[in-house]
Amino acid sequence: MKLRSPRFVFILVFCFSLFCLAAVNAFSLDREAFTFTSYDLTVRVEPEQQRLGVRGKITLRNDSQTPQKTAVLQISSSLDWRSIMASGKPSQFVSQPYTSDIDHTGMLSEAIVTLPEAVAPKSTVDLDIAYEGVIVLDATRLTRVGTPDDAAHSSDWDQISPTFTAVRGAGYVAWYPIATEAADLSEANNLFDVLGRWKTREAAASMKLSFDYAPLPSDASPPVTLCGGDEKQGVTRGGSLVNPSPRCTYPILGFSVPAFVVAAYGVADRPAITVYSLPANLTAAEAYADATEKTVPFIADWFGTPQKKVETADLADPNAAPFESGSLLLTPLTRADPKLTGLAVVHQLTHAAFSSSRPWIDEGLAHFAQALYLERQSGRQTALDYMALHRAAFSSTEKQTTAPRSEDEVNRSLVNTTDENLYRSKAMCVWWMLRDMIGDQALKKALASYRREQDKEPSYLPRLIQAQTPKDLEWFFDDWVYRDHGLPDFKVESAFPRKTMTDVYLVTVTVGNVGAAGAEVPLTVKFAGGEVTQRIVVRGKSNAVIRVEIPKPPSEIVINDGSVPESDTTNNIFKIQAGDVAK
Ligand SMILES: [Zn+2]
Repeated sequence: MKLRSPRFVFILVFCFSLFCLAAVNAFSLDREAFTFTSYDLTVRVEPEQQRLGVRGKITLRNDSQTPQKTAVLQISSSLDWRSIMASGKPSQFVSQPYTSDIDHTGMLSEAIVTLPEAVAPKSTVDLDIAYEGVIVLDATRLTRVGTPDDAAHSSDWDQISPTFTAVRGAGYVAWYPIATEAADLSEANNLFDVLGRWKTREAAASMKLSFDYAPLPSDASPPVTLCGGDEKQGVTRGGSLVNPSPRCTYPILGFSVPAFVVAAYGVADRPAITVYSLPANLTAAEAYADATEKTVPFIADWFGTPQKKVETADLADPNAAPFESGSLLLTPLTRADPKLTGLAVVHQLTHAAFSSSRPWIDEGLAHFAQALYLERQSGRQTALDYMALHRAAFSSTEKQTTAPRSEDEVNRSLVNTTDENLYRSKAMCVWWMLRDMIGDQALKKALASYRREQDKEPSYLPRLIQAQTPKDLEWFFDDWVYRDHGLPDFKVESAFPRKTMTDVYLVTVTVGNVGAAGAEVPLTVKFAGGEVTQRIVVRGKSNAVIRVEIPKPPSEIVINDGSVPESDTTNNIFKIQAGDVAK
C-alpha cells in the first residue's frame, strides 16, 4: 500500500506531534543508520521534458547498534517516489518533504519506509525502487542564504535540458537515493560535515548505472553520455543508434560523486586524453588536448607515467565551476585561458599517474602538482601566490576551533578528514613543505616507491618519505598529518647583528612560534644590495635560534616567504636600525 496523499502526511504529522507519543518514540528516525552498499539503477533521461525516471535495486546495510524497522530514502524534492518494494512485495512508505541543503533545491523528497521485518545490526535489506520527476536549473539553497543569482547558478549548474544535460550527485542533486540528517548552508561547515559523513559511509559502496533513452528517430545521432565511473561499456554512442543504452560502473565509490552528462559532443582524441566539446568549442578542445600531451613528461617525471586515459567534458555554461568525478573532469572549454587549462590538465594527469584511496594523498598531490607546474611556468612566487588562494579556504576552517579538542585534532587530521578544504588545499601546502624540506629527488623517489595496494596504514607513505631523508620528520607528520595542530604563527623575537674580525656581519635571530604546529620555514636577512635566505625549524609553541652571515649591515629580517601556512602573517617583518649593529 502506498501512503502518499498530502492529507495523510498532514494527519500523520499532526498525530505524532500531539498525541501519539509512544508512536513517536518507536518512530524516532535514525537517518544515518543504513549504509547504501550497492546501487543497480536504470536511468531514463528525457531531455525534451527535462525528466528523469529511475528504477532499480539498492542494498542497505544496518550500520547502527540497534535493529532497524524503518529505512529513510531521500531524493531531490523535484523527484517523486513511485514505488518501494522489499522482498518482492510493495512496502508501506510515507513520503514527506525534508528541508536539507544537500540538494540544490534545498529540499528532499523523503520516503520513510516500513520494512517487512527489523534489520539486525550488520544485516542487509534489498529494496526495489522507482522514482521520477524533473531536474531543472535550481539554486534555491544558495539564493535563500543571500548568494547573488549569477554566483549561485555558476555553482549549482546541474540540469536536464533539451540541449545540454549535466547532473552531479550527493551534495548537488540527490538523483539517486541517499539518507542523511538535514544539512544547513547557513551554519558554517554544516553541509561539509553532513556530506563528509555520507561520503565516508559510502566509500566502499558500488554503483551500476544503465542509461536509457526514448527511441530516437532513425536519422538522429544519439547524444554522448559520460559518467565518471571507472569501467565503462559503450558509454559513448553505445548501444544501437536508435536506442542507445550506455552503461557506467563505479566498482568502489571512494570519495567520488557520481555524475553524468548528456550532450551532442564532438571529440578531440589524443593518447593521454579524450576531450568532449560542444560544437562551438571544437578548437578549444583541440588546444586542450594538445596542452595535455605536452604536459605528460612533466607529470611522468614527478608521479610516474599516467596509467589511464583521462577525459574532459565541456559544460554549456561558460561560468560553470569545474567539477571532477573520478577520471572525468567537467569544465567549460570556452574559457580557453592557457593558464587555467594547464592547471586543469596537470590535476587530471596526476590522478591518472598516481592514485591512492587516501584523499590527502590523492587530491593533495593533484593540487601540489598544480603548484609545481606554476613554479615551472612562472617561478616560485607564482606558485606561492596560488597556494595563498587555497590557504584562504582552509585558514577559516582552522580558525573555527580556537582551542582544538583532542577528538578534533584526530578527526580533522589530514589522514582522517572528510573536509575538502583540508584534504585538498591544506594537503597541497603540506606536500609543498615536505618538498622544500627534503628536496625534489628524495620526494620523487618516495612517491615512486608508493604502492596503492600496500597502503594499509596512515603511516605507510610517511615512512616511505622518511626513508629518503636523514632529517627527522616524525614531529612534522604529527603536527600536520596524523593530527591537526592548527597553523604556526611565527615572529622574529630578536635579532643581534655583529661585525666580525673578517669584516662580515653575523646576525643571531630568535624566531618564536606561538602556534601549536611546527615547521621548517625560510628566514631571509636583507641588506643593501642583496639578501640571504636560510631555513630554520621552529617547533610548535617554541623558539629557535639561527645565525646568518651576510656581507653588509642587515636592514630587515623576513620570516616565511609564504610557503608555510600561518595563522597571522602581519608580524613577519623585523626592521633593524643601523645603530643596532654591535662592533
Ligand atoms: Zn582531483
